[in-house]
Amino acid sequence: MVLVIISDIHGNLEALEAALSLIDEAKPDQIICLGDIVGYGANPNECVDLVRSKSQVVLLGNHDAAAIGLTSVEYFNTHARRAAHWTAEVLTGENTAYLRALPMDYRGEGFYAVHASPHEPSVWHYVINQGVADEAFHAFNDPVCFLGHSHVPVLFREGGERGEHLDEGDHVLEGNGRFIVNVGSVGQPRDNDPRLSFGLYETEGRKLSIRRHE
Ligand code: ZN
Repeated sequence: MVLVIISDIHGNLEALEAALSLIDEAKPDQIICLGDIVGYGANPNECVDLVRSKSQVVLLGNHDAAAIGLTSVEYFNTHARRAAHWTAEVLTGENTAYLRALPMDYRGEGFYAVHASPHEPSVWHYVINQGVADEAFHAFNDPVCFLGHSHVPVLFREGGERGEHLDEGDHVLEGNGRFIVNVGSVGQPRDNDPRLSFGLYETEGRKLSIRRHE
C-alpha cells in the first residue's frame, strides 16, 4: 500500500495545488492529512474543500482547532493569533462544521498518525528533540508514527540519540525498530528550505520518500 502524508498546509492554496499535482502522479492508495489545513494563509476555505475532496483521512491540527474555538490562542504569537481570528470570520459554516468533526488521531495497518504528539495530543507538544520523542514513543505501540506540527522533516528512532533531518529522496525504515516521522510542511516549511514538503510511504518494505517542490 502506498500512502501519501501531507501536513501543515496553513491556507496556502498555491502550495497545496502544486503538491497535489505531484501526488496525483504517484497514484497513492490513501492520502492522509495530519492537520493544520488553515491558519496563516489566505485561502482557508479553498484548502479545506480540496483536502476534503482528495484525502481519505484528515486529522485536526492546533490551528484548525483555534480557528473554530476548540483550543486557546493564548500561546500563539501575535501573527498566528490574528490569523486565527481572521480565519474564524471567513470560514464557511460548512467548513467550520467539517473541522469540528475531525478526529485527533488515526491508526492504520502498521502505522499511527497524529498532528502534534501521541503524548497528551491536546497539549500539542512539539516533537523536536529526542527527549520529547521518547515521551511520544511511550504513547503508541505501532511501528511508525507520522506527525506534523513542527514543519521540519525529521526522523526519530526509539532509543536513538537525536533526530535526523529527512532530506529529499528515499529512506528505508530499517530493522525492527520503531520510528517517528515528520514529513515536513506543504504550506510553510521551516527547515531553511522554502520548497513544500510531503511524504510517500510504501508500507511493504517501509520505504519513505520525502518529496520537495518549488
Ligand atoms: Zn502547523
